[in-house]
Amino acid sequence: MAILPEVQSYYGRLKLYINGTWVDSKSSYTQPVMNPAKDEVIAETPFATMDEVNKAVKAAVEAFEKWKETPITTRVQYIYRLKQIMEDHFEEISRITTQNHGKIIDEARGESRRLIENIETACAIAYTLAKGEHIDQVASEIDETLIREPLGVFAVIGPFNFPALAPFWFIPQALVLGCTLVVKPSEITPLPMMWCFKALDELELPPGVVNLVYGSREVSEALIRHPDIQGIAFVGSTPTGKYVYRLAGEYGKRAIVQAGAKNYIVVMPDTDLDKIIPALLTSFFGNTGQRCLSGSNLVAVGEVYESLKRKFVEAASRLKLGYGLDESVEMGPIVSMNAKNRVINYIEKGISEGAKLILDGRNAYVAEYPKGYFIGPTIFDDVTPDMIIARDEIFGPVANIIRVDRLNEAIEMINTKTSYGNAACIFTSSGREAREFRRRVKCGNIGINVGIAAPMAFFPFGGWRESFFGILHGQIDCVDFFTDKKIVIARW
Ligand code: NAD
Repeated sequence: MAILPEVQSYYGRLKLYINGTWVDSKSSYTQPVMNPAKDEVIAETPFATMDEVNKAVKAAVEAFEKWKETPITTRVQYIYRLKQIMEDHFEEISRITTQNHGKIIDEARGESRRLIENIETACAIAYTLAKGEHIDQVASEIDETLIREPLGVFAVIGPFNFPALAPFWFIPQALVLGCTLVVKPSEITPLPMMWCFKALDELELPPGVVNLVYGSREVSEALIRHPDIQGIAFVGSTPTGKYVYRLAGEYGKRAIVQAGAKNYIVVMPDTDLDKIIPALLTSFFGNTGQRCLSGSNLVAVGEVYESLKRKFVEAASRLKLGYGLDESVEMGPIVSMNAKNRVINYIEKGISEGAKLILDGRNAYVAEYPKGYFIGPTIFDDVTPDMIIARDEIFGPVANIIRVDRLNEAIEMINTKTSYGNAACIFTSSGREAREFRRRVKCGNIGINVGIAAPMAFFPFGGWRESFFGILHGQIDCVDFFTDKKIVIARW
Protein backbone atom coordinates (compact mmCIF):
# COMPACT_ATOMS: atom_id res chain seq x y z
CA MET A 1 0.00 0.00 0.00
CA ALA A 2 1.28 3.45 -0.88
CA ILE A 3 1.96 5.76 2.01
CA LEU A 4 -0.84 8.24 2.56
CA PRO A 5 0.25 11.86 2.95
CA GLU A 6 1.35 13.02 6.39
CA VAL A 7 1.21 16.66 7.34
CA GLN A 8 3.35 18.54 4.85
CA SER A 9 4.20 22.21 4.76
CA TYR A 10 2.92 22.49 1.17
CA TYR A 11 0.77 20.12 -0.90
CA GLY A 12 1.03 21.96 -4.22
CA ARG A 13 -1.85 22.41 -6.64
CA LEU A 14 -4.48 19.83 -5.74
CA LYS A 15 -5.45 17.29 -8.36
CA LEU A 16 -8.97 16.27 -9.22
CA TYR A 17 -9.89 12.60 -9.01
CA ILE A 18 -11.86 11.56 -12.07
CA ASN A 19 -12.50 8.05 -13.34
CA GLY A 20 -10.00 6.49 -10.98
CA THR A 21 -7.14 8.84 -11.91
CA TRP A 22 -5.59 11.92 -10.33
CA VAL A 23 -5.74 14.66 -12.96
CA ASP A 24 -4.32 18.16 -13.22
CA SER A 25 -7.15 20.62 -13.64
CA LYS A 26 -7.03 22.83 -16.72
CA SER A 27 -8.66 25.57 -14.69
CA SER A 28 -7.14 29.03 -14.84
CA TYR A 29 -8.60 29.84 -11.40
CA THR A 30 -7.06 28.60 -8.18
CA GLN A 31 -7.59 29.63 -4.59
CA PRO A 32 -4.95 29.38 -1.86
CA VAL A 33 -5.64 26.87 0.92
CA MET A 34 -4.51 28.22 4.28
CA ASN A 35 -3.26 26.98 7.60
CA PRO A 36 -5.31 29.38 9.75
CA ALA A 37 -3.04 29.08 12.79
CA LYS A 38 -0.08 30.34 10.81
CA ASP A 39 -1.63 32.37 7.97
CA GLU A 40 0.40 30.20 5.62
CA VAL A 41 -0.53 28.94 2.16
CA ILE A 42 -0.39 25.13 2.27
CA ALA A 43 -1.95 24.25 -1.12
CA GLU A 44 -3.77 25.69 -4.11
CA THR A 45 -7.28 24.52 -5.07
CA PRO A 46 -8.18 24.73 -8.72
CA PHE A 47 -11.88 25.38 -9.35
CA ALA A 48 -12.86 22.64 -11.80
CA THR A 49 -13.89 23.67 -15.31
CA MET A 50 -17.34 22.73 -16.62
CA ASP A 51 -15.68 20.21 -18.89
CA GLU A 52 -14.07 18.56 -15.84
CA VAL A 53 -17.36 18.52 -13.92
CA ASN A 54 -19.00 16.86 -16.93
CA LYS A 55 -16.19 14.31 -17.17
CA ALA A 56 -16.58 13.45 -13.49
CA VAL A 57 -20.34 12.94 -13.87
CA LYS A 58 -19.86 10.91 -17.06
CA ALA A 59 -17.36 8.65 -15.29
CA ALA A 60 -19.82 8.15 -12.43
CA VAL A 61 -22.67 7.38 -14.86
CA GLU A 62 -20.62 4.77 -16.67
CA ALA A 63 -19.39 3.23 -13.43
CA PHE A 64 -22.92 3.02 -12.00
CA GLU A 65 -24.12 0.39 -14.48
CA LYS A 66 -21.47 -2.09 -13.28
CA TRP A 67 -21.31 -0.98 -9.66
CA LYS A 68 -24.99 -1.59 -9.02
CA GLU A 69 -24.55 -5.11 -10.44
CA THR A 70 -21.55 -5.76 -8.18
CA PRO A 71 -22.76 -8.07 -5.39
CA ILE A 72 -23.48 -6.15 -2.23
CA THR A 73 -21.11 -8.46 -0.34
CA THR A 74 -18.29 -7.32 -2.63
CA ARG A 75 -19.23 -3.65 -2.27
CA VAL A 76 -19.17 -4.07 1.49
CA GLN A 77 -15.70 -5.62 1.35
CA TYR A 78 -14.34 -2.43 -0.26
CA ILE A 79 -15.86 -0.38 2.54
CA TYR A 80 -14.46 -2.69 5.24
CA ARG A 81 -11.03 -2.13 3.72
CA LEU A 82 -11.63 1.59 3.76
CA LYS A 83 -12.33 1.35 7.49
CA GLN A 84 -9.04 -0.45 8.03
CA ILE A 85 -7.10 2.15 6.03
CA MET A 86 -8.73 4.92 8.05
CA GLU A 87 -7.86 3.15 11.31
CA ASP A 88 -4.28 2.60 10.19
CA HIS A 89 -3.92 6.27 9.26
CA PHE A 90 -6.13 7.77 11.95
CA GLU A 91 -3.49 10.25 13.09
CA GLU A 92 -2.65 11.47 9.56
CA ILE A 93 -6.23 12.35 8.62
CA SER A 94 -6.75 13.97 12.03
CA ARG A 95 -3.57 16.03 11.76
CA ILE A 96 -4.35 17.22 8.25
CA THR A 97 -7.81 18.28 9.41
CA THR A 98 -6.24 20.32 12.20
CA GLN A 99 -3.71 21.83 9.83
CA ASN A 100 -6.29 23.01 7.30
CA HIS A 101 -9.28 23.78 9.55
CA GLY A 102 -7.59 24.90 12.76
CA LYS A 103 -9.58 22.74 15.22
CA ILE A 104 -7.51 21.19 18.00
CA ILE A 105 -6.15 17.71 17.41
CA ASP A 106 -8.53 16.04 19.87
CA GLU A 107 -11.52 17.53 18.05
CA ALA A 108 -10.06 16.37 14.75
CA ARG A 109 -9.67 12.90 16.24
CA GLY A 110 -13.33 13.02 17.28
CA GLU A 111 -14.23 13.92 13.70
CA SER A 112 -12.15 11.04 12.30
CA ARG A 113 -13.70 8.61 14.79
CA ARG A 114 -17.25 9.53 13.79
CA LEU A 115 -16.23 9.25 10.15
CA ILE A 116 -15.12 5.67 10.78
CA GLU A 117 -18.36 4.96 12.65
CA ASN A 118 -20.26 6.05 9.54
CA ILE A 119 -18.24 3.54 7.52
CA GLU A 120 -19.04 0.80 10.05
CA THR A 121 -22.73 1.65 10.03
CA ALA A 122 -22.79 1.62 6.22
CA CYS A 123 -21.47 -1.94 6.27
CA ALA A 124 -24.25 -2.96 8.61
CA ILE A 125 -27.09 -1.37 6.61
CA ALA A 126 -26.20 -3.46 3.61
CA TYR A 127 -27.66 -6.55 5.21
CA THR A 128 -30.62 -4.99 6.96
CA LEU A 129 -32.33 -1.99 5.39
CA ALA A 130 -31.08 -2.59 1.87
CA LYS A 131 -32.54 -6.04 1.59
CA GLY A 132 -36.23 -5.30 0.92
CA GLU A 133 -39.41 -6.87 2.24
CA HIS A 134 -41.73 -9.59 1.07
CA ILE A 135 -45.17 -10.87 2.01
CA ASP A 136 -46.49 -14.08 0.54
CA GLN A 137 -50.19 -14.41 -0.21
CA VAL A 138 -51.33 -10.79 0.19
CA ALA A 139 -54.35 -11.98 -1.79
CA SER A 140 -55.20 -15.32 -3.27
CA GLU A 141 -52.08 -16.57 -5.15
CA ILE A 142 -50.54 -13.10 -5.01
CA ASP A 143 -47.23 -12.21 -3.37
CA GLU A 144 -45.96 -8.69 -2.84
CA THR A 145 -42.32 -7.62 -2.58
CA LEU A 146 -40.65 -4.32 -1.86
CA ILE A 147 -37.23 -3.98 -3.46
CA ARG A 148 -34.84 -1.08 -2.92
CA GLU A 149 -32.74 -0.23 -5.96
CA PRO A 150 -29.85 2.23 -6.13
CA LEU A 151 -30.81 5.35 -8.04
CA GLY A 152 -27.59 6.33 -9.78
CA VAL A 153 -25.15 9.22 -9.49
CA PHE A 154 -25.30 11.65 -6.56
CA ALA A 155 -23.42 14.84 -5.72
CA VAL A 156 -22.12 15.45 -2.21
CA ILE A 157 -21.34 19.09 -1.34
CA GLY A 158 -19.51 19.67 1.94
CA PRO A 159 -19.01 22.54 4.42
CA PHE A 160 -15.71 23.90 5.69
CA ASN A 161 -16.19 23.01 9.35
CA PHE A 162 -16.35 19.20 9.23
CA PRO A 163 -14.40 18.80 6.02
CA ALA A 164 -13.87 15.05 6.28
CA LEU A 165 -16.86 13.95 8.34
CA ALA A 166 -19.84 15.77 6.81
CA PRO A 167 -19.41 14.18 3.34
CA PHE A 168 -18.97 10.83 5.10
CA TRP A 169 -22.52 11.09 6.43
CA PHE A 170 -23.32 10.03 2.84
CA ILE A 171 -20.30 8.56 1.02
CA PRO A 172 -20.00 5.06 2.55
CA GLN A 173 -23.78 4.55 2.58
CA ALA A 174 -24.10 5.52 -1.11
CA LEU A 175 -21.27 3.20 -2.11
CA VAL A 176 -22.58 0.20 -0.20
CA LEU A 177 -26.04 0.74 -1.67
CA GLY A 178 -24.68 0.73 -5.23
CA CYS A 179 -24.68 4.42 -6.12
CA THR A 180 -21.75 6.35 -7.55
CA LEU A 181 -20.61 9.83 -6.53
CA VAL A 182 -19.13 13.17 -7.39
CA VAL A 183 -17.91 14.89 -4.23
CA LYS A 184 -17.20 18.62 -3.91
CA PRO A 185 -15.66 19.66 -0.59
CA SER A 186 -15.45 23.22 0.69
CA GLU A 187 -12.93 25.31 -1.18
CA ILE A 188 -11.65 26.63 2.17
CA THR A 189 -10.80 23.21 3.62
CA PRO A 190 -10.34 20.77 0.72
CA LEU A 191 -7.31 18.94 2.15
CA PRO A 192 -9.05 16.43 4.44
CA MET A 193 -11.29 15.24 1.57
CA MET A 194 -8.30 15.11 -0.77
CA TRP A 195 -6.71 12.85 1.85
CA CYS A 196 -9.86 10.69 2.08
CA PHE A 197 -9.71 10.25 -1.69
CA LYS A 198 -6.11 9.06 -1.37
CA ALA A 199 -7.53 6.41 0.97
CA LEU A 200 -10.39 5.62 -1.45
CA ASP A 201 -7.82 5.34 -4.24
CA GLU A 202 -6.06 2.62 -2.24
CA LEU A 203 -9.20 0.47 -2.50
CA GLU A 204 -8.87 0.15 -6.27
CA LEU A 205 -12.58 0.62 -6.72
CA PRO A 206 -13.78 0.34 -10.32
CA PRO A 207 -12.90 3.66 -12.03
CA GLY A 208 -15.61 6.31 -11.80
CA VAL A 209 -17.34 4.99 -8.66
CA VAL A 210 -16.08 8.00 -6.68
CA ASN A 211 -14.94 11.30 -8.17
CA LEU A 212 -13.61 14.47 -6.60
CA VAL A 213 -13.87 18.00 -7.96
CA TYR A 214 -13.08 21.32 -6.29
CA GLY A 215 -14.74 24.69 -6.61
CA SER A 216 -17.45 26.83 -5.15
CA ARG A 217 -20.87 28.05 -6.30
CA GLU A 218 -20.38 27.42 -10.03
CA VAL A 219 -19.23 23.84 -9.61
CA SER A 220 -22.02 23.07 -7.10
CA GLU A 221 -24.62 24.53 -9.43
CA ALA A 222 -23.28 22.63 -12.42
CA LEU A 223 -23.63 19.41 -10.41
CA ILE A 224 -27.16 20.24 -9.24
CA ARG A 225 -28.28 21.14 -12.77
CA HIS A 226 -26.59 18.18 -14.45
CA PRO A 227 -29.25 15.89 -15.95
CA ASP A 228 -27.38 12.75 -14.90
CA ILE A 229 -27.21 13.68 -11.21
CA GLN A 230 -30.11 12.08 -9.33
CA GLY A 231 -29.80 14.01 -6.10
CA ILE A 232 -27.71 16.26 -3.90
CA ALA A 233 -26.55 15.76 -0.34
CA PHE A 234 -25.58 19.22 0.90
CA VAL A 235 -24.22 20.42 4.23
CA GLY A 236 -23.63 24.15 4.70
CA SER A 237 -25.19 27.45 5.72
CA THR A 238 -28.91 28.20 5.60
CA PRO A 239 -28.83 30.88 2.85
CA THR A 240 -26.82 28.60 0.54
CA GLY A 241 -28.85 25.58 1.62
CA LYS A 242 -32.15 27.27 0.76
CA TYR A 243 -30.79 28.15 -2.63
CA VAL A 244 -29.54 24.60 -3.21
CA TYR A 245 -32.91 23.16 -2.14
CA ARG A 246 -34.80 25.50 -4.49
CA LEU A 247 -32.48 24.77 -7.41
CA ALA A 248 -32.67 21.02 -6.79
CA GLY A 249 -36.46 21.27 -6.76
CA GLU A 250 -36.47 23.25 -9.98
CA TYR A 251 -34.49 20.48 -11.65
CA GLY A 252 -36.61 17.74 -10.11
CA LYS A 253 -33.80 16.38 -7.94
CA ARG A 254 -34.05 14.89 -4.49
CA ALA A 255 -32.03 16.78 -1.90
CA ILE A 256 -30.86 16.47 1.66
CA VAL A 257 -29.96 19.95 2.90
CA GLN A 258 -28.45 20.18 6.37
CA ALA A 259 -28.04 23.84 7.17
CA GLY A 260 -27.16 26.47 9.78
CA ALA A 261 -27.98 26.77 13.45
CA LYS A 262 -28.45 28.96 16.49
CA ASN A 263 -28.42 26.69 19.49
CA TYR A 264 -29.70 27.40 22.98
CA ILE A 265 -28.18 25.78 26.06
CA VAL A 266 -30.41 26.01 29.13
CA VAL A 267 -29.04 25.70 32.67
CA MET A 268 -31.51 25.02 35.47
CA PRO A 269 -30.92 26.11 39.09
CA ASP A 270 -30.70 22.50 40.30
CA THR A 271 -27.58 21.84 38.21
CA ASP A 272 -24.19 20.98 39.69
CA LEU A 273 -22.23 23.76 37.97
CA ASP A 274 -18.75 22.42 38.67
CA LYS A 275 -19.73 19.25 36.90
CA ILE A 276 -21.11 20.93 33.79
CA ILE A 277 -18.63 23.74 33.15
CA PRO A 278 -16.31 21.52 31.03
CA ALA A 279 -19.31 20.50 28.88
CA LEU A 280 -20.28 24.15 28.47
CA LEU A 281 -16.76 25.10 27.41
CA THR A 282 -16.76 22.37 24.76
CA SER A 283 -20.23 23.33 23.61
CA PHE A 284 -19.50 27.04 23.15
CA PHE A 285 -15.80 27.12 22.36
CA GLY A 286 -15.01 23.66 20.96
CA ASN A 287 -14.14 23.83 17.26
CA THR A 288 -13.80 27.57 18.04
CA GLY A 289 -17.59 27.81 17.93
CA GLN A 290 -17.67 26.64 14.32
CA ARG A 291 -20.02 23.72 14.76
CA CYS A 292 -23.63 23.41 13.69
CA LEU A 293 -24.21 21.93 17.16
CA SER A 294 -22.26 24.60 19.11
CA GLY A 295 -23.91 26.38 21.99
CA SER A 296 -24.56 30.01 21.19
CA ASN A 297 -27.18 31.35 23.64
CA LEU A 298 -26.66 30.34 27.27
CA VAL A 299 -29.93 30.62 29.16
CA ALA A 300 -29.63 30.92 32.92
CA VAL A 301 -32.88 29.98 34.63
CA GLY A 302 -33.60 31.64 37.99
CA GLU A 303 -30.98 31.91 40.71
CA VAL A 304 -28.28 29.98 38.82
CA TYR A 305 -27.44 33.15 36.88
CA GLU A 306 -24.75 34.79 39.09
CA SER A 307 -22.72 31.69 39.84
CA LEU A 308 -23.08 30.32 36.30
CA LYS A 309 -21.83 33.59 34.85
CA ARG A 310 -18.88 33.77 37.23
CA LYS A 311 -17.75 30.17 36.79
CA PHE A 312 -18.27 30.15 33.02
CA VAL A 313 -16.29 33.37 32.49
CA GLU A 314 -13.50 32.22 34.81
CA ALA A 315 -13.13 28.88 33.04
CA ALA A 316 -13.41 30.36 29.53
CA SER A 317 -10.78 33.00 30.22
CA ARG A 318 -8.29 30.24 31.09
CA LEU A 319 -8.58 28.36 27.76
CA LYS A 320 -5.22 28.08 26.03
CA LEU A 321 -5.19 29.25 22.41
CA GLY A 322 -2.75 28.08 19.77
CA TYR A 323 -1.99 25.73 16.92
CA GLY A 324 -4.13 22.63 17.40
CA LEU A 325 -1.32 20.18 16.67
CA ASP A 326 0.15 21.13 20.05
CA GLU A 327 -1.66 18.71 22.40
CA SER A 328 -1.78 21.27 25.20
CA VAL A 329 -3.80 23.78 23.16
CA GLU A 330 -7.52 24.02 24.03
CA MET A 331 -8.82 26.28 21.28
CA GLY A 332 -7.61 26.85 17.73
CA PRO A 333 -8.06 29.76 15.31
CA ILE A 334 -11.06 30.72 13.18
CA VAL A 335 -10.90 29.08 9.75
CA SER A 336 -10.10 32.18 7.66
CA MET A 337 -9.40 35.88 7.91
CA ASN A 338 -12.82 36.60 6.33
CA ALA A 339 -14.55 34.43 8.90
CA LYS A 340 -12.59 36.13 11.69
CA ASN A 341 -13.67 39.57 10.47
CA ARG A 342 -17.27 38.39 10.27
CA VAL A 343 -17.17 37.25 13.91
CA ILE A 344 -15.57 40.54 15.01
CA ASN A 345 -18.33 42.46 13.21
CA TYR A 346 -20.89 40.49 15.20
CA ILE A 347 -19.10 41.27 18.47
CA GLU A 348 -19.21 44.97 17.55
CA LYS A 349 -22.88 44.66 16.66
CA GLY A 350 -23.53 43.11 20.08
CA ILE A 351 -21.84 46.03 21.81
CA SER A 352 -23.80 48.54 19.76
CA GLU A 353 -27.13 46.86 20.48
CA GLY A 354 -26.51 47.14 24.21
CA ALA A 355 -25.25 43.71 25.27
CA LYS A 356 -22.55 43.82 27.96
CA LEU A 357 -19.20 42.38 26.82
CA ILE A 358 -17.81 40.61 29.90
CA LEU A 359 -15.09 38.57 28.15
CA ASP A 360 -13.55 40.05 25.03
CA GLY A 361 -11.64 37.73 22.71
CA ARG A 362 -10.98 40.27 19.96
CA ASN A 363 -7.38 40.97 20.86
CA ALA A 364 -6.34 37.38 21.35
CA TYR A 365 -2.66 36.99 20.58
CA VAL A 366 -0.58 33.83 20.40
CA ALA A 367 3.09 34.79 20.55
CA GLU A 368 4.27 31.71 18.67
CA TYR A 369 1.71 32.26 15.89
CA PRO A 370 1.30 36.03 15.69
CA LYS A 371 -0.38 35.89 12.28
CA GLY A 372 -2.97 33.21 13.18
CA TYR A 373 -6.67 34.07 12.89
CA PHE A 374 -7.31 33.84 16.62
CA ILE A 375 -10.29 35.13 18.55
CA GLY A 376 -10.47 34.24 22.23
CA PRO A 377 -13.59 33.08 24.05
CA THR A 378 -16.04 35.96 24.07
CA ILE A 379 -19.00 36.28 26.43
CA PHE A 380 -21.85 38.78 26.39
CA ASP A 381 -24.12 39.34 29.35
CA ASP A 382 -27.51 41.11 29.43
CA VAL A 383 -28.45 39.69 26.05
CA THR A 384 -32.09 39.70 24.99
CA PRO A 385 -33.42 37.18 22.48
CA ASP A 386 -34.37 39.85 19.93
CA MET A 387 -30.81 41.12 19.56
CA ILE A 388 -29.05 40.28 16.30
CA ILE A 389 -26.29 38.46 18.17
CA ALA A 390 -28.93 36.22 19.76
CA ARG A 391 -30.65 35.48 16.44
CA ASP A 392 -27.96 35.21 13.75
CA GLU A 393 -25.56 32.31 13.40
CA ILE A 394 -22.22 33.90 14.37
CA PHE A 395 -20.14 30.75 13.92
CA GLY A 396 -17.36 31.76 16.28
CA PRO A 397 -16.46 31.52 19.98
CA VAL A 398 -19.15 33.90 21.20
CA ALA A 399 -21.56 33.05 24.04
CA ASN A 400 -24.61 35.17 24.88
CA ILE A 401 -25.96 34.94 28.41
CA ILE A 402 -29.72 35.37 28.57
CA ARG A 403 -31.59 35.43 31.87
CA VAL A 404 -35.06 34.02 32.44
CA ASP A 405 -37.09 33.15 35.53
CA ARG A 406 -38.62 29.85 34.47
CA LEU A 407 -38.06 26.93 32.13
CA ASN A 408 -41.25 27.75 30.28
CA GLU A 409 -39.79 31.10 29.14
CA ALA A 410 -36.65 29.37 27.89
CA ILE A 411 -38.69 26.89 25.85
CA GLU A 412 -40.88 29.65 24.38
CA MET A 413 -37.74 31.58 23.45
CA ILE A 414 -36.19 28.61 21.66
CA ASN A 415 -39.39 27.94 19.75
CA THR A 416 -40.18 31.51 18.74
CA LYS A 417 -37.06 33.69 18.77
CA THR A 418 -34.90 31.75 16.37
CA SER A 419 -35.85 30.41 12.97
CA TYR A 420 -33.27 27.64 13.32
CA GLY A 421 -33.98 24.27 14.89
CA ASN A 422 -30.77 22.30 14.88
CA ALA A 423 -30.05 21.63 18.54
CA ALA A 424 -31.03 22.63 22.07
CA CYS A 425 -29.65 21.32 25.35
CA ILE A 426 -30.73 21.41 28.96
CA PHE A 427 -28.65 20.85 32.10
CA THR A 428 -30.79 19.80 35.04
CA SER A 429 -31.13 17.16 37.72
CA SER A 430 -34.91 17.02 37.26
CA GLY A 431 -36.17 14.23 35.03
CA ARG A 432 -39.54 15.96 34.84
CA GLU A 433 -38.09 19.18 33.49
CA ALA A 434 -35.79 17.35 31.11
CA ARG A 435 -38.81 15.47 29.79
CA GLU A 436 -40.82 18.67 29.33
CA PHE A 437 -37.88 20.22 27.47
CA ARG A 438 -37.46 17.21 25.22
CA ARG A 439 -41.15 17.09 24.36
CA ARG A 440 -41.77 20.79 23.75
CA VAL A 441 -38.62 22.10 22.07
CA LYS A 442 -38.80 22.34 18.26
CA CYS A 443 -35.29 21.20 17.41
CA GLY A 444 -33.93 18.09 15.74
CA ASN A 445 -31.14 17.24 18.20
CA ILE A 446 -31.82 17.49 21.94
CA GLY A 447 -29.14 17.30 24.61
CA ILE A 448 -29.99 16.39 28.19
CA ASN A 449 -26.98 17.03 30.41
CA VAL A 450 -24.98 16.93 27.16
CA GLY A 451 -23.59 20.12 25.59
CA ILE A 452 -23.23 18.85 22.03
CA ALA A 453 -26.13 16.71 20.89
CA ALA A 454 -24.36 14.89 18.05
CA PRO A 455 -26.24 11.75 16.94
CA MET A 456 -24.26 8.55 16.44
CA ALA A 457 -23.87 7.24 12.89
CA PHE A 458 -26.69 4.70 13.36
CA PHE A 459 -29.19 7.49 14.11
CA PRO A 460 -30.24 10.18 11.61
CA PHE A 461 -28.57 13.57 12.00
CA GLY A 462 -31.49 15.71 13.18
CA GLY A 463 -32.42 19.25 12.20
CA TRP A 464 -35.75 21.11 12.10
CA ARG A 465 -37.05 24.40 10.77
CA GLU A 466 -34.42 26.49 8.89
CA SER A 467 -31.64 24.11 9.91
CA PHE A 468 -32.83 21.45 7.51
CA PHE A 469 -34.60 21.16 4.17
CA GLY A 470 -35.86 17.85 2.90
CA ILE A 471 -37.36 14.76 4.45
CA LEU A 472 -34.47 12.34 4.86
CA HIS A 473 -31.47 13.25 6.99
CA GLY A 474 -27.80 12.31 6.85
CA GLN A 475 -26.25 9.15 8.32
CA ILE A 476 -28.60 6.17 8.60
CA ASP A 477 -31.60 7.97 7.05
CA CYS A 478 -29.87 8.35 3.71
CA VAL A 479 -30.48 4.70 2.87
CA ASP A 480 -33.87 5.79 1.52
CA PHE A 481 -32.29 8.79 -0.18
CA PHE A 482 -29.90 6.78 -2.32
CA THR A 483 -32.42 4.11 -3.24
CA ASP A 484 -35.90 4.01 -4.63
CA LYS A 485 -38.58 1.48 -3.93
CA LYS A 486 -40.00 -0.92 -6.43
CA ILE A 487 -43.10 -2.82 -5.37
CA VAL A 488 -43.65 -6.09 -7.18
CA ILE A 489 -47.10 -7.68 -7.07
CA ALA A 490 -46.94 -11.16 -8.56
CA ARG A 491 -49.59 -13.81 -9.23
CA TRP A 492 -48.44 -17.39 -9.73
P1 NAD B 1 -21.48 27.47 2.92
O1 NAD B 1 -22.95 27.48 2.75
O2 NAD B 1 -20.74 28.74 2.74
O3 NAD B 1 -20.82 26.42 1.90
C1 NAD B 1 -21.20 25.07 1.89
C2 NAD B 1 -20.84 24.46 0.54
O4 NAD B 1 -21.63 25.06 -0.47
C3 NAD B 1 -19.39 24.69 0.11
O5 NAD B 1 -18.91 23.51 -0.49
C4 NAD B 1 -19.48 25.82 -0.88
O6 NAD B 1 -18.46 25.80 -1.84
C5 NAD B 1 -20.80 25.53 -1.54
N1 NAD B 1 -21.49 26.71 -2.08
C6 NAD B 1 -21.24 28.01 -1.87
N2 NAD B 1 -22.15 28.77 -2.53
C7 NAD B 1 -22.98 27.92 -3.17
C8 NAD B 1 -24.12 28.08 -3.99
N3 NAD B 1 -24.61 29.28 -4.28
N4 NAD B 1 -24.74 26.99 -4.45
C9 NAD B 1 -24.29 25.77 -4.15
N5 NAD B 1 -23.21 25.55 -3.36
C10 NAD B 1 -22.56 26.61 -2.88
O7 NAD B 1 -21.21 26.83 4.36
P2 NAD B 1 -19.81 26.76 5.12
O8 NAD B 1 -19.48 28.12 5.61
O9 NAD B 1 -18.83 26.02 4.32
O10 NAD B 1 -20.19 25.82 6.35
C11 NAD B 1 -20.66 26.31 7.58
C12 NAD B 1 -22.16 26.21 7.66
O11 NAD B 1 -22.58 24.85 7.56
C13 NAD B 1 -22.73 26.71 8.98
O12 NAD B 1 -23.90 27.45 8.71
C14 NAD B 1 -23.07 25.44 9.73
O13 NAD B 1 -24.09 25.58 10.70
C15 NAD B 1 -23.49 24.55 8.61
N6 NAD B 1 -23.38 23.14 8.96
C16 NAD B 1 -24.52 22.44 9.17
C17 NAD B 1 -24.48 21.12 9.55
C18 NAD B 1 -25.74 20.35 9.78
O14 NAD B 1 -25.70 19.14 9.83
N7 NAD B 1 -26.88 21.00 9.93
C19 NAD B 1 -23.24 20.50 9.71
C20 NAD B 1 -22.07 21.22 9.49
C21 NAD B 1 -22.17 22.55 9.11
